[in-house]
Amino acid sequence: MVINKNTRLIISDIDNTLIGDAEALNKLFEELRHADNLHFGVATGRRLDSAVSVLEEWQVPKPVIFITSVGSEIHYAPNLIKDEGWKKHINEQWEPERLKKTLETFTLAMQPKLSQREFKVSYFVDHTFELWQPKLDEYLQQNNLSANMIYSSGKFLDFLPKKASKGLAVRYLANKWGLPLKQFLVAGDSGNDEEMLTSGAFGIVVRNYSFELEKLKNNDNIYFANGSNAQGILEGIKHFNFLNSSLMR
Ligand SMILES: [Mg+2]
Repeated sequence: MVINKNTRLIISDIDNTLIGDAEALNKLFEELRHADNLHFGVATGRRLDSAVSVLEEWQVPKPVIFITSVGSEIHYAPNLIKDEGWKKHINEQWEPERLKKTLETFTLAMQPKLSQREFKVSYFVDHTFELWQPKLDEYLQQNNLSANMIYSSGKFLDFLPKKASKGLAVRYLANKWGLPLKQFLVAGDSGNDEEMLTSGAFGIVVRNYSFELEKLKNNDNIYFANGSNAQGILEGIKHFNFLNSSLMR
């Protein structure tokens, strides 16, 4: 992957954003194929192996960046090398065992073992979550537990290290490569995309978004598309004139 000062990156969520409409997906990559100095990456709640396989299933050209497990891991193509710097960066005040123990009070349903990662502790919740979220916040504070709590699609509750999220991962990449966030375009549909959409990059929310993102409306840097899935991404690219954005500088 060659990065120079004019490189632009499109980082998209996978489920309900990139995939879902095969025809629009084709059109999207047809459009991206002609762009110079553009890299494509994904940011997903999925594990790396699961992200790779679902992208193959949908015949998505291989991304160069994989931000996975809700932003707690970063890997680079072609050999899927892990970013050890990111791991070091987020591994601060991360106490997953004590966190799990402390959360037992709330009798939350754990997500399957495969969804639990070194830097992610995951539960299932329901739509009532927002009602008791303040209580949970307070309880974690009282117990001196530092974690980034991310609620998504009305059912997933993920705890990550304080410094980890999809959005913080995107900022880390911008920093690492010395690129302005305005050279990043991100797309998503649900709560775990929120930090990425408000990171300072250009943001696209696809039409089929989850209610958690409603609060991002009326933000100049975030475009709410009329189209769903990849169709919405295509629309957003045009809205921001992102592929020709070098002309704007
Ligand atoms: Mg999604």
